[in-house]
Amino acid sequence: MAIHIPEDKLSEIRNTANILDVISERVVLKRAGKDHVGLCPFHSEKTPSFTVSSTKQIFHCFGCGAGGDVFSFLMKYDGISFSEAAQSLARRYGIDLPDRNMSPAQAKAVSLRQQLFDLNREVMGYYTRQLMDPAAGKQARAYLADRGFSPEMIARFSLGFAPDGWDHLVRFFRQQRVSLSLAEQTGLVVPRKSDGFYDRFRNRVIFPIIDMSQQVIGFGGRVMDDSRPKYLNSPETPVYNKSRSLYGAPAARTRARETGAVYIVEGYFDLMALHQHDISNAVATLGTALTADHVQMLKRGFAQKAYLVFDSDEAGLKAAKRSVSLFLNAAMDAAVIVLPKGYDPDSFVFEFGQAAFMEATENALPMIAFLVESAIKSNGLSMEGKLRIISELQEPLMEIQDRLARSIYIQYLAERLGVRESAIRDKLKSIKTASRAPASASASVFDREAGVFPGQTDAPAASMPSEMIRVERQIVSMMLNVPEILPEVEKRNILAYFSDERLCDIARAVLSAPVYGEKDRDRLFNRFESQAHKDMIASLLIRDECRSLDQCELLLCQFINGIEKRENTLLCQIQSAQEKNDDTLLFELLRKKQEQSEGRLRK
Ligand SMILES: [Zn+2]
Repeated sequence: MAIHIPEDKLSEIRNTANILDVISERVVLKRAGKDHVGLCPFHSEKTPSFTVSSTKQIFHCFGCGAGGDVFSFLMKYDGISFSEAAQSLARRYGIDLPDRNMSPAQAKAVSLRQQLFDLNREVMGYYTRQLMDPAAGKQARAYLADRGFSPEMIARFSLGFAPDGWDHLVRFFRQQRVSLSLAEQTGLVVPRKSDGFYDRFRNRVIFPIIDMSQQVIGFGGRVMDDSRPKYLNSPETPVYNKSRSLYGAPAARTRARETGAVYIVEGYFDLMALHQHDISNAVATLGTALTADHVQMLKRGFAQKAYLVFDSDEAGLKAAKRSVSLFLNAAMDAAVIVLPKGYDPDSFVFEFGQAAFMEATENALPMIAFLVESAIKSNGLSMEGKLRIISELQEPLMEIQDRLARSIYIQYLAERLGVRESAIRDKLKSIKTASRAPASASASVFDREAGVFPGQTDAPAASMPSEMIRVERQIVSMMLNVPEILPEVEKRNILAYFSDERLCDIARAVLSAPVYGEKDRDRLFNRFESQAHKDMIASLLIRDECRSLDQCELLLCQFINGIEKRENTLLCQIQSAQEKNDDTLLFELLRKKQEQSEGRLRK
């Protein structure tokens, strides 16, 4: 809930909250020197690389690069917004966030949301009692038992039953003296054309939908025979947003974090069936397609890898095609599990058991590979078929920002089709030149593992040596720890030579507001919205690079020398190309030279 928190309250929270308290309530930490270390909650590891510095009030993981201040930790760990993290810290430290700071409209919205949460909870209780009622719930209990669900599962998911009839819930609200115009906003009762209200859910098994903060946000209902629609969900309300909610999320998180993986299924029963077979790291979409918000939520708070589980039909393929770019753009690993024809996750685990499902998980294909195989299946491997396959896959392949990953998939496609890799690359290049401008904007993130810039596919890796990036990192870290060097950095126009944009952004921010203490550090974090920048700042701050001014100046000299050497090499190459009359190479080198000087002018 995005409420406005005044700046003075934020700084009170910042001054009171201790990152060590907050993290040790969630992660087991051991003292190591003046810091604390533990197993990273954001990636799976066996030796601790997750470090918390209480002197600097920041955390950083040397394994996966996650980092930030106490706010970013809670946002990432609990998958919540900045203002929710602030509210949670305020509660934790007994800091009052007075209502009068909210505008009347905001206060009204907050109170409406709370009323709807409360009503939904009462309704959940009502439906549960109906299911347990010896007479009223008899048929529904028999239905659930017949589908194989144990009483534990029914209790774990607080299943309920909406009795057959038009006004059971309407009467319940009246008994409770709840105004029906308020009840209408839960979406559970619907106004009649003439007068009065009727129940939305009738003669259905009810699944309460619970969010990460354990609030009941909506309901799903399923018929017990062949009537239509099979599933019915609450409409969107002030507390229920389908594109941000996933069924089963609170129950899935712990296991998802332990295993580093989360299953995405389509139905309520699919999810419960997995739970009953001890596979609790699963969430279900609620009658909508997967959204970018869903993927962000899973990646931030759950796991690095998602398995999409589909029935083997056409609909599953379509869903995979639609969601491939969501995962690629969020840089989240995704694989597709295809079940044998005629099975869904529910019927599959009940018939073949947990081990078979785990085996299917092991055989899951990475998303792109799945798309390749499906394209081969539907187009065949005739010459025309191959052409169709390549053009079908152009788009998903071009959406892969990571150069190494893309290269692996192109290789895979080439092998499967029996064509040369270079032919596929040429084909992709022709599209890329056409759509180059928009693609390069999002491709500035430096890929640490591969040591390459995913966006700069045309420049040979040698012109962006990772050694230079390493020195750029050292320089920014030095600028953070030894502010006395800043005038020198400015005088020598060092940032103009930077090749890593993220480092350059951070360095610029430090130049304009030097970091002397904790307050300045907080301010620096807050200047950046992107988590990638925050991660980078924490990784630069966590290591004290105690250097003398002399050492700092030496580092700057080294950096400048490196640049000059690179430029001289380029000049030599140009000269030699001229001598050999190699016009193509010469043109290429001149273009590179020009890019370098233009880059400097831009900065
Ligand atoms: Zn980590």
